[in-house]
Amino acid sequence: MLIDGYDLEVFTPPCDPGAVRYAARARLIRNISEVLPYLNATLQGAIYVPGAQALTWKQGGHHIAFHALEIATSNLEDREEAEKEIEDLIDLVNQTWERRSEITPDIRTRQRPTPMAIYKLLPNTNCRQCGEPTCFSFALKLAASLTRIAECAPLLETQCAVNLAALEAMINNAPANA
Ligand code: SF4
Repeated sequence: MLIDGYDLEVFTPPCDPGAVRYAARARLIRNISEVLPYLNATLQGAIYVPGAQALTWKQGGHHIAFHALEIATSNLEDREEAEKEIEDLIDLVNQTWERRSEITPDIRTRQRPTPMAIYKLLPNTNCRQCGEPTCFSFALKLAASLTRIAECAPLLETQCAVNLAALEAMINNAPANA
């Protein structure tokens, strides 16, 4: 087990005083920088910066940051959610570390695709099947990892296979320095 102890801090982000949402950080006892390339290889949309020993990731509306001695997350409702979210992230790190012999580590820094680059690959019919009023709204959410490609049903149809493949490659495997 890589992480076997940490101190939890739940707080209102200093950039947003009086906010009703919270942020949390786990201060780690052991350095986890060695696991970051393995997380980079397995977490969709993660951005790894080797020089800073930092990896950021967005999931479920949370902005998450893994550092050598800290894991932080944001946009939490209360302390209970903070404790659960941090526990889940600790489990993720420990499970990834246990499986590292099965994973090829990735030290590349991916570039997050822009909403416009995503939009150009969407069907552009504004059909609303994804729940968004326009394709560009969907592109904004996808760029921020707040939705999934599969929510756009028309894109999954055969005639859109080329665009779908390009979009999946852009979202999942877009190294900036490859
Ligand atoms: S389902 Fe796809 S095509 Fe329809 S509005 Fe959403 S993104 Fe556009």
